[in-house]
Amino acid sequence: MMLKVGILGGGQLGRMLLQAAANYPVETYVMENDPECPAAHLCHHFTKGDIRNYDDVFNFGKDLDAITIEIESVNEDALDALEQKGVKVYPRPSALRTIKNKITQKQYYKDQQIPSPEFVITQNLTELNGHVSFLPAVHKIGQGGYDGKGVQVIRTAADLGKGFDAPGVLEKMVNIHKEIAQIVAINEKGETAIYPPVDMVMDPQLNLLDYQISPAELPQQTLWKIEAIALAVVKGLKSPGIFAVELFVDKNGDVLVNETAPRVHNSGHHTIEANYSSQFDMLWRVMLGYPLGNTDHILSASIVNLVGADGFSGPAVYEGLEEVLKMENVFVHIYGKKETKPGRKMGHITIVSKDRQDLSFKAHRIKNLLKVVS
Ligand code: ADP
Repeated sequence: MMLKVGILGGGQLGRMLLQAAANYPVETYVMENDPECPAAHLCHHFTKGDIRNYDDVFNFGKDLDAITIEIESVNEDALDALEQKGVKVYPRPSALRTIKNKITQKQYYKDQQIPSPEFVITQNLTELNGHVSFLPAVHKIGQGGYDGKGVQVIRTAADLGKGFDAPGVLEKMVNIHKEIAQIVAINEKGETAIYPPVDMVMDPQLNLLDYQISPAELPQQTLWKIEAIALAVVKGLKSPGIFAVELFVDKNGDVLVNETAPRVHNSGHHTIEANYSSQFDMLWRVMLGYPLGNTDHILSASIVNLVGADGFSGPAVYEGLEEVLKMENVFVHIYGKKETKPGRKMGHITIVSKDRQDLSFKAHRIKNLLKVVS
């Protein structure tokens, strides 16, 4: 029987999910406002609608067998109603609620005794100004932050004005050694599968991912800590799905949870080529009730993000693409967005190799060769 499964959001993550869906007996549905979004032409049924609107989400989901998300900013009240109607909603709306707001997310870690940077809740700038003794710290907006845009580093009292005049959390500054992403799959039976952890190298200026390497190179003891903590985060949320737990390893080797995403994640793009079952394949297995896949890595991998070059807005042109396509063990993913603008995520390139030096050599070469202009 063909199950009907819906995805809320039609961005690049939805697109990659649909590419993996082609291997399964499933009829796919996507809802998104923009009929030209990356996932629109890969699904069986596209619905134009607002994923934040109760009626749109409810009407989209009411005749489906299961529904998932590719972005957190969805109407979770409608998902509650769909769950009550018997539609499988993975991640469950309760888990989504906990995660969606950084205040409830941080409170969850505290209640579950999961190590995470110490924090105080702030309702507005006036309250933030009262926490000088907590500095240096990082201020994070409760809801609506993404790609580093809801995060401000507050080193001294002079920086307090940079904080958010909205509910948020002020988190102690961590002395970061490495930033790690750990993807975990969990099915209806509570069985879990865990991917090799990924080393995310951040651009210190933009607070954005620069490049990443999998598997992360860390002492065995640190790897055990990461695995135990990520499993505790995911099991406590009591929801089937795919979860990406982002963690800090500090200069003392302590492991702290930064944040969790209840969905397929940018840090797992390489699993398409580098692991036996990709994160996208795995989510279908969870959604459709099949056995979990094999998360082992076949080869080490690196990802380079392809973002719109500064100074160019308009129809996208991929400069240097031919040169990159000539390279061995390099896989180009273009998301099919018609228009580029500075900093817009337009695609990614996965490099696989037995040799980690080859990974960084090729990653640098690709960064120099390939540009999205207009
Ligand atoms: P986003 O959800 O926008 O990605 P994050 O909470 O992951 O935001 O923060 C973005 C980046 O800011 C992190 O990847 C890290 O480099 C830095 N950062 C966040 N929290 C802390 C912290 N407590 N201490 C030090 N750096 C932090």
